[in-house]
Amino acid sequence: MDIKKIMVVGAGQMGSGIAQVAAQAGFETVLHDLNFDIVNKGLETIKKSLAKFVEKGKITEAEKNEILGRIKPSDSLKNAADCDLVIEAVVEKMEVKAKIFAELDQIVPPHAILATNTSSLPITEIAAVTKRPERVIGMHFMNPVPLMKLVEVIRGLQTSDEVYKVIEELSRKMDKVPVECKDVPGFVSNRVLQVMINEAIWCLYEGVASVEGIDTIMKLGMNHPMGPLALADLIGLDTVLAILEVLYQGYGDPKYRPCPLLRQYVKAGWLGRKTGRGFYSYV
Ligand code: NAD
Repeated sequence: MDIKKIMVVGAGQMGSGIAQVAAQAGFETVLHDLNFDIVNKGLETIKKSLAKFVEKGKITEAEKNEILGRIKPSDSLKNAADCDLVIEAVVEKMEVKAKIFAELDQIVPPHAILATNTSSLPITEIAAVTKRPERVIGMHFMNPVPLMKLVEVIRGLQTSDEVYKVIEELSRKMDKVPVECKDVPGFVSNRVLQVMINEAIWCLYEGVASVEGIDTIMKLGMNHPMGPLALADLIGLDTVLAILEVLYQGYGDPKYRPCPLLRQYVKAGWLGRKTGRGFYSYV
């Protein structure tokens, strides 16, 4: 199967990054969100990221413009009617994703593949709202997408071998390294990562050390490039909480119980970098 045109649904930090790498790999790309204001913000993020690549000499100004020229904005899912692949990257909520997949299933051509960038939600459950569960798959990119090499590729119960192979090959075309993973809550990446982030938040909640103290201990002590609280701010605290809820419910194990401080920050609208305030201030 030949993929030529890709729609990315959700123009937030992940969706804009995915659209960027799709366009960089030469695909015709449609970047979709609820309205053009949000899509334009996503396009601005892509422009800034590509400008940095030009500065570093990785691409030329002309290549930057060609890449941008391959990305078309969209505020209607109907624009997926001639797409071979849709990659969904909207908020980490099953009801929102399920609604989008049911709608896309009616719009895209029969051969099209529907992929989700979910961090933790069951691929099998998302696939079940469509009439093409064998053509639904998890394609989990890492943040920031243009820089991070990994794509966790998650097969739902009914995902076909053909679809898996297409997505594996596509990930390589996007200059990523695909790794296969089973459909369990949080897959591998977030099952491991979020326990560490949550534990760091519990340390802060219990006054074990300061924000900077916790992050410095993990950076210098474990050779991590960034501390867990800074990483939580990068991911978005709403997303961190949503993933922990999926892990907590999915495994029924108290080790995944989200720290109350995380819930409080999310209620306050302190979602990390994207809102200017999380464990750190970005204003
Ligand atoms: P984000 O908040 O930056 O962006 C989400 C976007 O979805 C927003 O632009 C919002 O307007 C849009 N949206 C919401 N409902 C929509 C709808 N019905 N139709 C179209 N667009 C809609 O979030 P994000 O960090 O980009 O995360 C998106 C997805 O990627 C989530 O499933 C998340 O779990 C996953 N993910 C996030 C990270 C991370 O580090 N943040 C990493 C890997 C995967």
